[in-house]
Amino acid sequence: MVLDREDDSSRVNALDLGANDVMVGNFDPEEAALRLAAILKRKKLTDRLSRSLEAGLNAAVTDPLTGLFNRRYALPQLARTAHQARLQGQGFAVMVADLDHFKLVNDKFGHAAGDIVLAEVARRLRATVRAGDLIARIGGEEFLIVMQRATPESASELAHHLRDVVRKTPVYLRDRDLRIPVTISIGVTMGSESDAGQFPAEAIPSNDATATTLIDLADQALYGAKACGRDNVTMARPAA
Ligand code: GH3
Ligand code: MG
Ligand code: MG
Repeated sequence: MVLDREDDSSRVNALDLGANDVMVGNFDPEEAALRLAAILKRKKLTDRLSRSLEAGLNAAVTDPLTGLFNRRYALPQLARTAHQARLQGQGFAVMVADLDHFKLVNDKFGHAAGDIVLAEVARRLRATVRAGDLIARIGGEEFLIVMQRATPESASELAHHLRDVVRKTPVYLRDRDLRIPVTISIGVTMGSESDAGQFPAEAIPSNDATATTLIDLADQALYGAKACGRDNVTMARPAA
């Protein structure tokens, strides 16, 4: 800011309004250029610091292969959903999706091809869940989907849709002109206010144990889907 004349209160005001520097009256252009250069240097440095801080924060919660959230991020997020749902008396669904016979894909086409398959499956799942739902890679070839405000019907519908978008089209490896058919199996469990029996009121509501319990239940349902021949969706039996 350039002030007409030296005036302490205007100077204070200018700085208070966000001016980076204040000059008075007939200022020397050379001095102004030097001051501007110093301000720009500071600005570039803070921009760089905030960009690398942001990148660091993103890297801590993101899986580099698929770009999905990682397990570390997903667990507390799931616990938060569980807590929120109990407060609001709303249902939500927890799904674990696992690639079928994925070891064979690696064995047959190589680990690099397996990586491409994983990234493509992740992309399809991501594109299929609703915007507010959580999707994360929680294991090598395992994905967690948390569907907000779900009923058993809507959860089953989404799970089948996810299963279908994976099996519908083989994954195409452009550089080898290869088409690799893949399928997933999904275990689904409902979390809702009526789960009070499973999660006693005295349990701390938003801890990772709640999340792990829910994932375990979905995992048990997943075993069922695998046992039924894979390429399948299984819902956990509702708590009695
Ligand atoms: P199932 O249908 O019972 O799930 O059989 P599966 O072969 O998928 O299951 P299994 O647990 O035996 O094998 C999982 C495989 O996933 C083994 C492992 O090498 C592979 N895998 C895990 N993470 C990665 C990864 O990041 N990249 C690649 N290419 N493969 C991975
Ligand atoms: Mg697995
Ligand atoms: Mg598997």
